[in-house]
Amino acid sequence: MAAVAVISALVLQVASVHLQPGVARPGDAVLVTVLGVTKQPSGTLGPQTLDFLPVADGFQALVALSVEAQLGPRALTVELVPDGETETTLSGTLEIVEPGWPRRELKVARKFTSPSKAEQLRSARDQKAFSDAFDVELEPWLFTDDFVWPRPPDITAPFGDLRLINGKKNSQHFGMDLDGDTGADIVASNAGEVVLVRDCFASGNTVLVHHGGRLFTAYFHLSKFDVKEGDRVKPGQRLGRVGKTGRVTGPHLHFGVKLDGRWVDPASVLRLRFFEATRPLPVSAPANGG
Ligand SMILES: [Zn+2]
Repeated sequence: MAAVAVISALVLQVASVHLQPGVARPGDAVLVTVLGVTKQPSGTLGPQTLDFLPVADGFQALVALSVEAQLGPRALTVELVPDGETETTLSGTLEIVEPGWPRRELKVARKFTSPSKAEQLRSARDQKAFSDAFDVELEPWLFTDDFVWPRPPDITAPFGDLRLINGKKNSQHFGMDLDGDTGADIVASNAGEVVLVRDCFASGNTVLVHHGGRLFTAYFHLSKFDVKEGDRVKPGQRLGRVGKTGRVTGPHLHFGVKLDGRWVDPASVLRLRFFEATRPLPVSAPANGG
C-alpha cells in the first residue's frame, strides 16, 4: 500500500489520505481512503471525480482507470473539511505504468463470429438486461471484508488479453478466466445483492452481484445457478457451478468486475485491502493548513 499524504488538522485530529495501489496499470481499480475526518471530502484523480462513500473511520472512493488511460503520473487531489476549520487540500500522485497485455489467438464456433438475425436480437436483449442491472443508485459498500477469489486462483487467461478470434482482431478480454471442471463450485467474491441471473448468448448462464458503490462482480458460462435475482449473498457463498455455456472453448469461469460503467481487472480489486489500518507516509506538502 502506498499512502499519499498526512496532515494534522489544525486542532482536533489527524486526517490522512491513502492510495492503493501507488503504481497502477490501465484497467485497474484504485482505492482512495480518507481517515480521520467526519465531513464528506471531495476530490479528483486526474480527469476523474472521486465519489466518496462513508466507511467506519472516514470515506473511500474507488476509481476505475480506463484501459486507454494515459501512462505516467496522474494527480490526486482531495479537499478536506476538518471539523471547525477551513478547507484543506491534499495532493499526491498515482503512477500509471505500461500494462504489457499479451496477444492471444482463439478459435470459436462460427455462430459466434457470424451470428444470425435471431442471435443478434437475443444479444441485444442481453445487453439491455445488463445495462438495466448496472443502473443502480450510488450506495455505501454492502461488504465489510476484502474480496475473495470465486474459484482457486488458477488463471487461464488474465484481464487485458488482446484477442484475435479466428485470425481477426476482435476484442480485449475484460475479465479473468479461472480454471474449473464442469460442476465445480463458484462462490461470491464478496457480500452483495444478486441483480441478474440470466441465460445469455455470449456470456452463457450469467450471474451479476452488486456490492454497493456501483461495483459489480460478474460470473459467466455457468452450468447451474444456485441463487436467484434479489438474493443477498455472503462472501464465499455458492452462486453456481462451472460450465461452458455461451461463447467458450471449454469449461471455465469468466470472472469480471465492473465499476461505475467500466470493466476493471479483477486482480486489482482482489489485491485491495479495504479495511486494513494504513501507515500514512507524507508524499507532498498540503496546500494549506498542514
Ligand atoms: Zn473470459
